[in-house]
Amino acid sequence: MGAFSPADSFVGERLWFLKEGAMMNLPFDGGKGPIAGPGAMIGILGGGQLGRMTALAAARLGYHCHIFCPEENSPASLVSARTTQAAYDDWQALEAFAKSCHLVTYEFENVPLDTAHYVSQYAPLRPGLEALRVAQDRLIEKQFCNDLDIQTAPWADVTGPESLAKAIHHIGRPAILKTARLGYDGKGQIFLPAEAGEEDPDQLWALLLEKAGYADAKNADLQDTGPTAILEGFVDFEKEVSVIIARGLDGQTQCFSLAENQHKNHILDRSLVPARVSPLLCAAAVDIAKRLADHLSLVGLLAVELFVTREGLFVNEMAPRPHNSGHWTMDACRTSQFEQLIRAVCGLPLGSVQRDFNAEMINLIGDYREHWEQTLLNENAKLHLYGKVESRPGRKMGHINLLTERAPIPGVKLGDIDPMGCP
Ligand code: AMP
Repeated sequence: MGAFSPADSFVGERLWFLKEGAMMNLPFDGGKGPIAGPGAMIGILGGGQLGRMTALAAARLGYHCHIFCPEENSPASLVSARTTQAAYDDWQALEAFAKSCHLVTYEFENVPLDTAHYVSQYAPLRPGLEALRVAQDRLIEKQFCNDLDIQTAPWADVTGPESLAKAIHHIGRPAILKTARLGYDGKGQIFLPAEAGEEDPDQLWALLLEKAGYADAKNADLQDTGPTAILEGFVDFEKEVSVIIARGLDGQTQCFSLAENQHKNHILDRSLVPARVSPLLCAAAVDIAKRLADHLSLVGLLAVELFVTREGLFVNEMAPRPHNSGHWTMDACRTSQFEQLIRAVCGLPLGSVQRDFNAEMINLIGDYREHWEQTLLNENAKLHLYGKVESRPGRKMGHINLLTERAPIPGVKLGDIDPMGCP
């Protein structure tokens, strides 16, 4: 290992902070950036359950986590070495946070771009800004997919009542009107049924803004651009699946088995693994995920939600972070999605994605007490709670992974047949 020279790496100024051994093979791995070894401090923007489970996985590998989030006692803070509780536009706090970390990742894709950019001046940000830019705007996301010849629902951009009327004419009905940014779990969406109703575009537009909470949105990005929306043709899908791909610093990729996802009230209710789809379709999903991750030069995880239709796979949306539909990996896989994220962003080799069990992941939403008592008595169930004190309707409080043995196929070794969830 050569001697470190500050010119070699933009983290040079902060080397005084590094504990012995925290950065391995300094300064660079083939020009891609520093590799962080055990003992390094990983910054996480966001303090939710995804950050919490990432921090727990990081701790197992000997890393420390520093959480940055506005909330007090966030699920991630409760299990991490350090927390900065501040707003995402508190530049002073962001600078101090980033300088204290060897690298920074994020656990939700709605981190304001300005925040992420600011942080990236002081510490490597993985996945990078491009993944955030694409994933946090449905219009950019759809265009990004279509430019790669990846199918999506037919769509049109909408910036107000006038363009909404045009978009409905162009896309037809049924359709779904969604805010382009800041919507999740069905928030900021209006379903337009096949039969045209009485609604007039002005009222629809006002309703959308109200539903999305744009009226009192303080997000700087929104104030710059004004609200934008997308009208998507309704896809008559057979089922919904998701694939989670990890891409390392060296560009190597690994995909977890496909999950089949079932929603209730627009929120993921359960994921079944393996998804009940053909090997051909699995391969197509993996190909889509790989092309997206490669084109984003992603270092980390990318979750891709897909509709299975008679015309093949349509991308619904993607997220450059761990995903709710990947929680089953915590108990059914050799490497969980959270450990895989840590491996990827730290520049370590990716772990085995071999699945040792079939799994059903069930979200615990709202009041979960009845379920967790039953789960403790079930020897095939693993319970994960997020440390949230207050349960509210629609709030994700934890999840259960139900495991069942995989039936071996005679003459075939487990790892050989199913790198991607095919039956
Ligand atoms: P989203 O917030 O875009 O992930 O949408 C939440 C859920 O709404 C999806 O998981 C689907 O079940 C449904 N959905 C969203 N967009 C469409 C679409 N264009 N066609 C049919 N169903 C959709």
